[in-house]
Amino acid sequence: MIGGETLDFEIRPNPQPVAAAERSALMANPGFGRIFTDHMVTVRYAEGKGWYDARVEARAPIPMDPATAVLHYAQEIFEGLKAYRAADGGVTMFRPDANANRFRASAQRMAMAPVPQRLFLDALEELIRIDRNWVPDDPEGSLYLRPFQYASEVFLGVKPSSEYLFLIIASPVGSYFKGGVQPVSVWVSRDYTRAAPGGTGAAKCGGNYAASLVAQAEAIEHGCDQVVFLDAAQQRYVEELGGMNVFYVFDDGTITTPPLTGTILPGITRESVMRLAADRGFTVREEQYSYDQWRADATSGRLREAFACGTAAVITPIGTIRDGDGEFTVADGKAGDVTMGLREQLVTIQRGTAPDPYGWVH
Ligand code: PMP
Repeated sequence: MIGGETLDFEIRPNPQPVAAAERSALMANPGFGRIFTDHMVTVRYAEGKGWYDARVEARAPIPMDPATAVLHYAQEIFEGLKAYRAADGGVTMFRPDANANRFRASAQRMAMAPVPQRLFLDALEELIRIDRNWVPDDPEGSLYLRPFQYASEVFLGVKPSSEYLFLIIASPVGSYFKGGVQPVSVWVSRDYTRAAPGGTGAAKCGGNYAASLVAQAEAIEHGCDQVVFLDAAQQRYVEELGGMNVFYVFDDGTITTPPLTGTILPGITRESVMRLAADRGFTVREEQYSYDQWRADATSGRLREAFACGTAAVITPIGTIRDGDGEFTVADGKAGDVTMGLREQLVTIQRGTAPDPYGWVH
């Protein structure tokens, strides 16, 4: 079931939108995730009734009974994608259909009612239409879109909720890297893992992020930007970063990334990078790579570059890798040519300044 069904949205414009001058001031330096647009989408679900009551309305707090299921058992999923200002003044999104599919897959894993793909896409379009003035004109900026869904039934029994709320909020964001792309340093977590076989690693559910925070805090304590998780079963293979997938570039023209075995998030940037790299003539393989091999290959020079990728920062070189025993660097801690070439290609496709032979821009 792909979910071709949709609903008519009731549009209730915010009677008190942010004034244009104030909006411009807020958008001059938006940072990440603290400034929000005037509206939100809400759609309700009830067992036996299906999805109903689709609205675009003023962004406002959602009243919640203290026994609402999500507050107790964390039945919640989310997505993250960006809308960009196109050269002709219009607005585009990057692969929203892929986010719709991943949202449905996350719902299935969390025993939630999946949002039909068409409804998900229509909801995004409705929100962007009414809040289009919040899409930054700045070529480095974008409007971050956050669809999410939670168990809204008021009940303390441990079971799948019979009611859900699906919402989308939006937040203008600035450049991830101020002053140019900088390689990140990463901390290899030995005390914590992110996802076990059979667990929820492939789902974009809030609980995965709650569990990662202590490891990310440990990374920061050790002077690193991001945490790297190893596989839970053997603590041997590299899985992903706290919020990004990882790639390796070798001296023989091979690029690898860990396979989707159910414990890592199937990143949309990851899939796009695999496609771009293959079309650039690289041999692209999904294969497990151990942390010990990473260190050995970085030291021998067989590994030329390593990078992380995700919606927020697109593609980020990984410079320094640190753990409790010491550290090593890839490419002397500098940004590599392959990494930056892929980054440039992906960014220009996303922003509509390069052709999009893949049909990714919506
Ligand atoms: N892994 C994790 C754990 C993430 O949170 C994200 C961000 N959604 C990614 C990878 C990258 O996914 P995407 O390219 O779809 O943003």
